[in-house]
Amino acid sequence: MKSVGIIGGGLGGLASACVLAARGYRVTIFERNEWLGGKAAVLREKGYRFDMGPTILLMPSVLERIFAEAGHRLADELDLVRLDPQWRSFFEDGSSLDLVADVDRMSSAMDIFLKGVRSKAYREFMRRAARLHRISERHFFWRPVGGLRDMVQLGSAWRPGFLQDVKAMSAGKTVSRVVREHFSDRRVAQMIDHFTQYVGSAPDASPAVLCGIGHMQTKEGVWYPRGGTRSIPQALTKLAELLGVEIRCNTSVEKIIISRGRVKGLTLRGGRSIELDAVVSNSDSVRTYWQLIGGETARAFAKRRQYEPACSGVVLYLGLNKRYDHLLHHNFVFSRDPEEEFTAIYRKGEPAPDPTCYVCSPSITEPGVAPAGGDAL
Ligand SMILES: Cc1cc2nc3c(=O)[nH]c(=O)nc-3n(C[C@H](O)[C@H](O)[C@H](O)COP(=O)(O)OP(=O)(O)OC[C@H]3O[C@@H](n4cnc5c(N)ncnc54)[C@H](O)[C@@H]3O)c2cc1C
Repeated sequence: MKSVGIIGGGLGGLASACVLAARGYRVTIFERNEWLGGKAAVLREKGYRFDMGPTILLMPSVLERIFAEAGHRLADELDLVRLDPQWRSFFEDGSSLDLVADVDRMSSAMDIFLKGVRSKAYREFMRRAARLHRISERHFFWRPVGGLRDMVQLGSAWRPGFLQDVKAMSAGKTVSRVVREHFSDRRVAQMIDHFTQYVGSAPDASPAVLCGIGHMQTKEGVWYPRGGTRSIPQALTKLAELLGVEIRCNTSVEKIIISRGRVKGLTLRGGRSIELDAVVSNSDSVRTYWQLIGGETARAFAKRRQYEPACSGVVLYLGLNKRYDHLLHHNFVFSRDPEEEFTAIYRKGEPAPDPTCYVCSPSITEPGVAPAGGDAL
């Protein structure tokens, strides 16, 4: 029973804790907040309930796999509701288009949206996205993604089909370029580009393989856990406790102790040290190297690649005494000009003059998020 310390009890830390405990490790989570879940936090006030961070749940198969490792069924722990249409898109010219999961239905909806222009564009894009999705599953979905070099592993490089996969990845092309090879309508291209916003990248700077997210979403669906996103860290905490994970909240880690290139333990705020065989950091990687490790290891990390903090956003939590009938559960109100928007955010590092807004109206699926007749937008 090797001991593992996990720094942080966000979704990543909780998932790691469950998997490691299920595989026989003695696991302790050290979380500086008094609650678990990290960004998947909840705000409750005056009868309203807001998921403060994530609200769009994709790929429940990842959660299923974590629960299965421990011999449990996700369906027994979480009540997941499939949302279809998946989003409603509102455009600058006043038009709107719903994204539905079924490719044929979506393709017909697009023909109507484009005023009867019968096109195979959506079907063809989804076929390409399906191939890119399969490639990411095969080579890097379950691994860290750094670039082509991380993908080329001894073994897989000699597998039949590997070179075809590299070619199909449209290496050198961006998401934005591939999307525009299929869609000439600015609004549709803006909507399809938006899949890459999940990973916080500009579509004109993201590798084409990320178009696979479109297929990932349409194939596996968009889900809402009843009780809100908050119920995911709650279910993972319950599983971790069942597996014997020790959870220490209000406990901040100050240092990872390393001796002769090996992790020996952690130092907590207040100076107490704990011996461990291994450590998993759920804290931001740049902070982990600079603040928790330091020294030559941190300098070597900084030399390897230029890291930047992820971009910020602005979130408003609006408790309403009414509902807006034209909204779905998930909505995107797109900016007037994606080039202007992405240049401001990703090149100048400034708030966009007219940003894309995501609006979540959960009362459609779960009226209890707000007092009767209201909404928690
Ligand atoms: C507004 C917003 C909306 C989002 N919407 C979506 C969405 O719809 N769908 C989606 O999939 N994703 C969404 N995301 C992204 C998603 O929330 C994150 O990817 C995910 O929650 C990150 O989980 P994590 O465990 O990696 O990190 P965090 O949630 O950041 O967890 C890290 C934990 O480590 C703890 N910690 C850090 N340092 C220390 C230390 N030294 N000692 C002890 N504890 C420490 C922190 O307190 C925290 O609890 C959204 C994010 C935000 C902010």
